[in-house]
Formats: sequence, structure tokens, C-alpha cells
Amino acid sequence: MYFYNREIIQGQDGKALSIILPTIGCRWRRCNMCSYFEDSPEDVSRDIFDVFIDLFNNAYDNDVKKIKLFTSGSFLDPKEIDIDCAKKIISFISEKDVLEITIESRPEYVKKEYLEDLRNSAKNVQIEVAIGLESSNNKVLQYSIDKGFTFEDFLLASEILKKLSIKNKVYLMIKPPFLTEKEAIHDAINSAKAIENLVDVISFNPMTIHKHTLVEYLWQKKEYSPPWGWSIMEILKGTANLKPDIICHPVAFGRFRGPKNCKVCNREVEERILEFSINNNPKILDYECDCKKEWEKELLKF
Ligand code: SF4
Ligand SMILES: [Zn+2]
Repeated sequence: MYFYNREIIQGQDGKALSIILPTIGCRWRRCNMCSYFEDSPEDVSRDIFDVFIDLFNNAYDNDVKKIKLFTSGSFLDPKEIDIDCAKKIISFISEKDVLEITIESRPEYVKKEYLEDLRNSAKNVQIEVAIGLESSNNKVLQYSIDKGFTFEDFLLASEILKKLSIKNKVYLMIKPPFLTEKEAIHDAINSAKAIENLVDVISFNPMTIHKHTLVEYLWQKKEYSPPWGWSIMEILKGTANLKPDIICHPVAFGRFRGPKNCKVCNREVEERILEFSINNNPKILDYECDCKKEWEKELLKF
């Protein structure tokens, strides 16, 4: 599977190609909001490099300036993609006219020697490693998310990336379970501030309800709801001036299982969030709608 999006690539608006590789998927499989590993195929017998080449040949064109390799897990986990195959993929892409390659990983697979090898296979292409940190608060990581690593584990990984001049992108979650709307806003802003000097890009991920997760169970019991669009805008305003690029591409915004405001303003708010992600200008987030009063009431809950 593959898809495209537009984003800022080395300072310029450009076309990015995302390729999803059919590995065995994430080995942790326990985060309370995630069922990505259910997407991993039952038959993983085909050589990943061959699958990659097929997808690449179908999807690549000369406008593509960034390639993002997703696995529903960790590209750097050698049990998902063996080291030789990973090097072959990176070296193949670096022969093309591409500026950046993004791979995703949990921090425990960020190992200096392996990354040094990968970076050497990449020649003139900038490698970016994206880590799903979710929060800088260890209590949120342990109890709300069951992430299986600590903020300190992330710090070790980010230090290795910095030493190797590899870009570090971080996903922060907006509204993990068991947090009120107000706590979720604080958690997201505090987490972004805690990593401001360590990372290049912060991507906020507002919660959407995945099937067969604890979050879905709580949502069905009416004990959890995805964040308001107002909360997302508040977080973006509160982090717009930080050093990293701030992005947010909400999934299923305004839909049943996704973040939302009201029917009147959903579309407008989503567009403003996406536009903010290109220019980080907080002025675009100045907007009013009657549903804001309901959100303000929600903030009083504790
Ligand atoms: S580490 Fe990532 S892929 Fe694995 S269970 Fe958690 S959120 Fe899902
Ligand atoms: Zn509204």
C-alpha cells in the first residue's frame, strides 16, 4: 500500500510518498489506543525488499522528494526488517532524486552502530527517525497508554540520533485515556516544551478510536471521548513558537470516531489546523463558533 501527501521538505513545499511495508508489525502491541498490528498481513513470507521494489515502482515519480517507510511497527526492529534488507532499501532510495527518508521506530531499537550503517547507505539523503513518544510524563506513558518505555529511554534514543545528525521527529498524543480535556491540553503542551531542544519536528496526533482497544471500550461505555478541535487549536497555539516544526494531521476529524467540534465548524477548523501545519502561524487558529462554549464547560470537569 502507498499514498501521497504534501509537506515541507528541507524548507520547501513538496510531495511525500508513504509506503507501508508488510512486516510482522509491532512487537509491543500493548498501547491502549493502538491496533495497527492487526493490519500486518498473515502471510509475511515474501521478501520485504521485493515487496518494497514493487510498491516503489508503482508509486514513485520525479516529483516525490521524500519517502516515508511505515511498517505498523518499527523499521529498526531487526525482527521486522532484517538489517541487510533495511540497508538495501535505504541505499536503493538514495540513488533517486529524493531529499529525505523517514522511518519509524520505538526507542529501544535506536542503536548507534546500526544507524551509523544505515546512514552510510543513505549517501546524500537526510534520514529522519520518527518516534511515537506520546507524552513526556512517565505516569501518562505507564498508566494511560501502557507504552512500555519511559521518557528517559526516549532521551537516550534522541541523543544517539543527534550525535549521528539524523533528524528526530516525535509523535505526541492529544488526549490519552484517563485524562480530562484540560489535563490533555496541559500534557501535550508540557511534553512539547520538554523536547523542544531535542527534536526537529513535533507531530501532534489527536486520538481516534481504533477497533479492539481499551480506548474503544472506554468510549463505548461513555467514559472517554476524543479531543475537541478547540483543544487541538489551543495546543497548537501554545506550541507555535517552539523551535521544532509543529504539525498536526488529524485522522477522521469530525467523524464518529475522531476528534471534532460541531457540524457547523468541523471542516473550517480542520482546514485551519492543516494550514497551520504548513506555516506554523498561530493567527490562522483565531476562529470562533458557538460550540466553543460547550468546550469551555468541558474544561471545567475534573
Ligand atoms: S508502539 Fe506503536 S505500533 Fe506498537 S502498540 Fe504502541 S502505538 Fe502501536
Ligand atoms: Zn462549532
